[in-house]
Amino acid sequence: MKIVLLGPPGAGKGTQAKFISEKYSIPHISTGDIFRKNISEKTPLGVKAKSYLDAGKLVPDEVTIDIVKDRLSMKDCKNGFLLDGFPRTVNQAEALDLFLNGKGEQIDTALLIDVPKELILERMTGRRVCPSCGASYHIKFNPTKVKGKCDACGADVIQRKDDTESTVKDRLDVYGKQTQPLIGYYEKQNQLSKVDGTGEIDKVFERVINVLGAVGK
Ligand code: ADP
Ligand code: AMP
Repeated sequence: MKIVLLGPPGAGKGTQAKFISEKYSIPHISTGDIFRKNISEKTPLGVKAKSYLDAGKLVPDEVTIDIVKDRLSMKDCKNGFLLDGFPRTVNQAEALDLFLNGKGEQIDTALLIDVPKELILERMTGRRVCPSCGASYHIKFNPTKVKGKCDACGADVIQRKDDTESTVKDRLDVYGKQTQPLIGYYEKQNQLSKVDGTGEIDKVFERVINVLGAVGK
């Protein structure tokens, strides 16, 4: 399966991606995670990306597209992949199509996790992440078993710097202007599928499985 996950920041893409990638045995590729790892390791890419992430703005396409192409060229993507947070602009989507078409491939679906704007702010400001293994939690909706400690690896969970109320508002603005048009882009290509992203995490996953099971049938 070659899947693109769409949806506003805070829709639950990363949360669902973890389950989808396990079920279909495909790598979960999050451009946000790639940037954060590079920032924490202070690599040249991290130095370039930091100011954009801090401000809730998009890292320029020319940087982001090459990173994804390199990642998709790795062996573990042979049987499919799950892209989370990419593409985020029409330009990125076109570059992805071009890259895959060049190999005689295309995505199976762009799956939109649909969550109304009113729910997003609470989801994002309550998000806590593990800086060590990338697991994502929520103080109210998906708390860690031991307060402040990652269930998976025991590291201290943190709040992302860009999950504060004012940056979340900027990110939602960026989403509306630059990423939402992708819904129409994939709809036109008959590649869009949709799930209701409200309700409990495992209920959303059930819906995801149903929708993915129907893709291509
Ligand atoms: P995204 O990757 O789309 O930005 P995340 O998967 O990190 O979003 O989810 C954002 C926040 O919302 C996290 O704190 C996560 O635990 C929480 N969350 C995810 N799915 C749900 C859900 N169905 N109901 C309530 N909270 C959720
Ligand atoms: P995320 O983890 O998906 O919420 O992404 C966090 C931040 O990383 C975004 O606010 C952007 O600054 C940057 N980012 C992630 N993916 C992309 C992308 N496809 N294009 C540009 N910037 C991105």
